Order: sequence, then structure tokens, then C-alpha cells
Amino acid sequence: MTRKLYYEDTYLKEAKAKIVEIKENALLLDQTIFYPTGGGQPHDMGTINGVRVLDVYKDEDGNIWHVVEDASAFSIGDEVELKLDWERRYKLMRIHTALHLLDHVFNEVLGKGNWQLHGSGMSPEKGRYDLRYPENLNQYKEKIIELFNRYVDEGGEVKIWWEGEKRLTQIRDFEILPCGGTHVKDIREIGHIKKLKRSSIGKGVQRIEIWLED
Ligand SMILES: [Zn+2]
Repeated sequence: MTRKLYYEDTYLKEAKAKIVEIKENALLLDQTIFYPTGGGQPHDMGTINGVRVLDVYKDEDGNIWHVVEDASAFSIGDEVELKLDWERRYKLMRIHTALHLLDHVFNEVLGKGNWQLHGSGMSPEKGRYDLRYPENLNQYKEKIIELFNRYVDEGGEVKIWWEGEKRLTQIRDFEILPCGGTHVKDIREIGHIKKLKRSSIGKGVQRIEIWLED
């Protein structure tokens, strides 16, 4: 199985690896810093020996494949240089951790058990949380932003640990959530919410989208 360096050090931007297998335009490496699509988080971008990485995915054996623009220059056994598009990944780490913090803020503002998560998603630009709640969430917008930003100012460690195959995460002493994604070390790094938008996506589900300050 591919050694997942992004779990050992989420802040690794470059690494060396060895090519284990090549399937058409996809490279299997002995280890990688490239996060594959999963758990609502989009895959990383970057380069392998300067060749653009277009897609990163995990197969059922837990091996991570890197689809490159052109695989013709690669051979099995080659030692290669991995480089992440760090700007993109760091934005994803911030927005991803922001969604965990938002989850806790909803519990405080709306009350635990009063709302249900319907779905979530993220891009480097914004994060979204779809939830069921009986009243229009617009009335809580200011309260949500204020509490969120206060927590960011106070800071707090984002803990990660494993229980067997399960990877768990917790901000401060808030809720423990199972998650396989990449997070920042301290919620200070998230930055403030600069914009929050509420919309209805029907069937009683409301969508909350957030944008972070740079
Ligand atoms: Zn997470």
C-alpha cells in the first residue's frame, strides 16, 4: 500500500518517491504527498518531475494513483520528485478545517440535535454545508460569523488520532469527528469568514456557503 506522507506531515510540500507501477497515464508510487479525492476533499494538484498531475485517486487496495499529463518519460523504478501546488492544498486545508469548526458553531447557535447535516463539499475557494433546520438560517448569520471568528482569534489545536482503521479529529474539546482529510494544526490558520451565504436547495434543506479571508 502507498505510504501516505500527507498523514505523517500535512505540511509537506515536496518529497521524493519511487515508481512502483505504471498503468496508461497513471503512476503508482511507494509513497506520496498527493491527497487523493475522498471524504469530500478534492485531490491535490502539482507536478511529478515537472510533469503536471491531473488527477489523484485511491483504489480499493488503498493504493494511490497519480494521473499525469504525459507518462512517456517515466519508467518503473525511477526515483521522482513530487511537488504540490501548495497554495491550492493549503486553501483546502483551511476550508476543510473551517467546515469542522462550523459544525461546532451550528451546535452552539442552533442547539445540538436541532439540525441535521445533509451534505457538505469544498473547493479551494469556498466551503458548503447543507443542513436541515426548521427555520430560515438567515436570522443567525451574524451570530454564526461572530462566534466562528471569535474561535479563530482564540485559536485551538486540531488533534488527529487513529483508532484502528478509523481516523478521528477534534478541535479543542469540541465534537470528535471521523475524517480522512487534511487539516491545519491550529484553527488560527483558518482565518475569518469574510462572507456567508444562505440559500434554499429545496425539500427543507438550506445551504450555507462560506468564503474565508486570505
Ligand atoms: Zn476533516
